[in-house]
Amino acid sequence: MSTDKQIKEEIVYYAKLLDQKGLVNPLEGNISIYDRENNKLYITPTGIRKSFLTEEKIAVLQNGIQIDGELRRSSEYLLHEAALNARPDCRAAVHTHAPYLTAFAYCNKDIKLRCSSTFALLFEDIPCLPFGQPGTPHIANGIDKAIKEHDLILLANHGCLTVAPTLEKAVAILEAGEEVMKIYSLAQTIGKIHDIPEEDWEEMCNTHPGSKRNRYVKTK
Ligand SMILES: [Zn+2]
Repeated sequence: MSTDKQIKEEIVYYAKLLDQKGLVNPLEGNISIYDRENNKLYITPTGIRKSFLTEEKIAVLQNGIQIDGELRRSSEYLLHEAALNARPDCRAAVHTHAPYLTAFAYCNKDIKLRCSSTFALLFEDIPCLPFGQPGTPHIANGIDKAIKEHDLILLANHGCLTVAPTLEKAVAILEAGEEVMKIYSLAQTIGKIHDIPEEDWEEMCNTHPGSKRNRYVKTK
């Protein structure tokens, strides 16, 4: 079990990594870990560049009230709470405006690529939630259902959100999703994109040990 200090260190480490990789800008993006045993939500604060974060600045919330941390919690904690409440198997959530994924959110489009084996195994599809006002409970409208079946979702006209049992995994899912969408965007400039034949797609999703279908069978 992680201590208070270890959880804060983990959040600072991955917040800085996201900053280095260009997956958050100075004004947005937040990551959280939910310590279920002690009912504490650890989340990055608002209004600070992620590369300037320290352990003391991480906000700790209990029942929606901040009990620790030098800076005020992100206003998007409602999104993290809703996502992690809907996924009892998960301990971490990452919300960013990663450009290639968020471009689809601006178009209010679900992502249903059929050209990528990575996409097939990790996601199969990425749903886009309807628009909800940031900073209000509406930001989490529809999240319960969507996040139950997907580790990565889009928030219309806003950004994206991942959940996972560990923060390392949640960040990795975001990185993988963003990379696939970047490659897809490049591929569109080269020529006609070829989809994986439907039969092969189904077989891969059904039989590959790391596929989403098989991961979900094992964890539920
Ligand atoms: Zn946001």
